Amino acid sequence: MNTENSHYTENTELHADVLVIGFGKGGKAVAAAMGQRGKSVVLVEQSARMYGGTCPNVGCVPTKALVHHANQRRPQDSPQDWYARSVGEVQALTSLFRAGNFDGLNGMETVTVLTGRARFEDPHTVSVGAGAERLTVRGDTILINTGSVPVVPDVPGLAGSRYLLTSTDLIETTTLPPRLAVIGGGYLGLELAAVYRRFGSEVTVLETAPDILRHEDEDVATAVRTILLDEGVTLATGVRVLEVTDGPDRASLVYEQNGTKQTVEVDAILAAAGRRPATSELNLEAAGVAVTERGAVKVDTYLRTSRPHIFALGDVNGGPQFTYISLDDSRIVLDQLTGEGGRSTDDRAAVPHTLFITPPLATVGMTEREARAAGLRVKIASQPVAEIIAMPRAYVVEETRGMMKFVLDAETDEILGAALLSTDSQELINTVALAMRHGITATELRTTVYTHPSSTEAFNDVLGAIVRSDP
Ligand SMILES: Cc1cc2nc3c(=O)[nH]c(=O)nc-3n(C[C@H](O)[C@H](O)[C@H](O)COP(=O)(O)OP(=O)(O)OC[C@H]3O[C@@H](n4cnc5c(N)ncnc54)[C@H](O)[C@@H]3O)c2cc1C
Repeated sequence: MNTENSHYTENTELHADVLVIGFGKGGKAVAAAMGQRGKSVVLVEQSARMYGGTCPNVGCVPTKALVHHANQRRPQDSPQDWYARSVGEVQALTSLFRAGNFDGLNGMETVTVLTGRARFEDPHTVSVGAGAERLTVRGDTILINTGSVPVVPDVPGLAGSRYLLTSTDLIETTTLPPRLAVIGGGYLGLELAAVYRRFGSEVTVLETAPDILRHEDEDVATAVRTILLDEGVTLATGVRVLEVTDGPDRASLVYEQNGTKQTVEVDAILAAAGRRPATSELNLEAAGVAVTERGAVKVDTYLRTSRPHIFALGDVNGGPQFTYISLDDSRIVLDQLTGEGGRSTDDRAAVPHTLFITPPLATVGMTEREARAAGLRVKIASQPVAEIIAMPRAYVVEETRGMMKFVLDAETDEILGAALLSTDSQELINTVALAMRHGITATELRTTVYTHPSSTEAFNDVLGAIVRSDP
């Protein structure tokens, strides 16, 4: 079969060796691999706008493309015109990726992509679509890969506000909000706050915690805070958002900070308070698939659910919400289906993360605080980017803000962790993570040969810049 099957007839039943629910990263990778092995695969995606899943359509790709476009704006470019043009270009890119994702899978002889919402009927069967446009699919092996959905915080007036936007709404609107409130100072909130500020919006981030990036060391969080404040982002931390009231052309958002009530008037409110696993529409009870207290599909370290023939990959299983984790989930599932079955989530070590502000913050491993809490004797190597003599690239690309910090084991010279707030850090961190996974010492990372002028050669300097060392 090789058709999009947009017109089903009632009572049609398909059979698949592998049935994938949701066109996420992990599911599509398994679908393609199993299809290549000659297995019949049916992949069900609820929306024709989401072939390829969140990342290429409304997640990583468009947001990082917007970072790029926002950084290209010159002072003489009109914010609204530049922004609308940028959104247009980004949408053209996502359309291209969407079509590529669809064709890549549906073009395979063995794979069928169905467009419709899937819902379990029993442990081996899902129904797709509704009413007359409904069919059922039986799968021997089933993968749940339905991702996550935004959480709207429980604030009076917020859910019903016409100024409320999810990240998807925000990045697709072609009107630049002159004033934007971002509820939630986590990764998503800070990235979009920074990017919309660069496009020209007045941005206020409202965060309940006493500070942003509380899991990072204080010096790193301070460096990020300084950059965001320099950019003109308003950071309101330790706040409680009390209510939202819609006016004819703006929303009033009332919040409490240090016991004082404050009001901010905005044209748009972004809900960036996290995303929850997308399980509520799946009728998992019919399949006998258990969920956790937080609504994620419960899985073991091999990503098997409470039904051994059903796996869950990506955001829906409650793991870290990153595309590369969903991809790694696919390696585990493929190992179960076609390999030796030994690979598990326990094998993951030194998984890096990047916060794509400008410059980006990329981290891996332990913070200084965590290393000390673990009772380790540590050495801290750290330098502001502007002072790293071995890294002229920062001056070449005119981005000298930020810092690099390494947490090292004072006894073994092992790299315990790193926080790199610098240009290119989203690339640098992968080298550090690889070094950590393979036991490459701090001295080896410091004294090796790197190209010039590159950002990596900063390691030649920074790893020797010991600022603190436990006796
Ligand atoms: C704005 C934003 C920026 C992000 N930036 C980054 C980043 O820079 N780097 C990074 O690694 N991660 C980033 N993420 C997170 C990343 O996008 C997700 O972790 C990742 O896409 C999750 O993939 P997944 O495999 O779980 O499924 P998804 O890619 O979310 O796909 C799930 C699919 O299932 C479909 N679906 C849901 N229910 C059903 C149903 N019942 N029937 C049929 N289909 C269904 C959905 O329509 C969707 O297409 C970002 C996320 C957002 C929202």
